[in-house]
Amino acid sequence: MRLRHKPGAADQVKENAHYVIPNPSEQKGKWNEVFQNDQPIHIEVGTGRGRFMVGMAKANPHINYIGIEKYTSVISDALDKLIEAEVPNLKLLNVDAQKLTDFFEDGEIDRVYLNFSDPWPKVRHEKRRLTYKTFLNMYQQILKNDGEIHFKTDNQDLFEFSIMSMANYGMTMHFLSLDLHNSDFEGNIMTEYEEKFSSKGNRIYRVEAAYRN
Ligand code: SAM
Repeated sequence: MRLRHKPGAADQVKENAHYVIPNPSEQKGKWNEVFQNDQPIHIEVGTGRGRFMVGMAKANPHINYIGIEKYTSVISDALDKLIEAEVPNLKLLNVDAQKLTDFFEDGEIDRVYLNFSDPWPKVRHEKRRLTYKTFLNMYQQILKNDGEIHFKTDNQDLFEFSIMSMANYGMTMHFLSLDLHNSDFEGNIMTEYEEKFSSKGNRIYRVEAAYRN
C-alpha cells in the first residue's frame, strides 16, 4: 500500500466516531450493541480503502461488517465511501490487527476476510503475514466454532504459503480457486487491489478455510 499524506484524515476519523469506532477494546463482547441487532459479524483484516467492505455491507444488509485498517490516511478513504453509502451495518476500526483479541471476545465473530494481504516476501518477515500461525490462532479465538476465513490474493507465493500454513494448523479448505475471475463463483465483490491487479492480467486465487474444532 503506497501511503500518502492526507491532510485532515485524523480529524475526519475523530469526527466520525459513529463510523470509525474509537477505543474498540471498550466494545469487546458488545459489538451487537454497537450495531443494535443480533446479526452475524464479519470482519476484514487490512481493509485498505474500503471498497470490499462497503460493497459487502450494501449487498448483505443482514450481516454486520467491521473493516480493520491500521493507517489513518488509508481508512479515511474507506470512511469517505462509508459516508457516501450510508450503510448502517458497517463500522471501521483504525487499529493494528495484531491486537484483535483486545477488541473481540472469544467466539464473537462469524467470519474473517483477508483480501490481498501484504505478502512480506522475505522469509525473515513471514511472521508478519496475516496467514502466519499466530494470526490463525488469533482468528480461531475470536471466531465461532463454525467460523471461516475467506482469503483472496493475486500473489501466488503468499497463496501457497497460506494454504500450507492453514493445512499445518489443521484447517480444512474448500472452494479453492486458482483463477477466481474465470470460475463459476458468483457474487464476487472486488477490492481496490483486485481491480488493479486483475486489470493487469494477474490471476486471482481464493480459498475458504475452516477450523477443525
Ligand atoms: N484489502 C485491500 C484491498 O484488497 O484492496 C487492501 C490491500 S493492501 C495490500 C493491505 C492493507 O492491509 C493495507 O492497507 C495495510 O495497511 C493493511 N494492514 C496490513 N497489516 C495490518 C494490520 N496488522 N492491521 C491492520 N491493517 C493492516
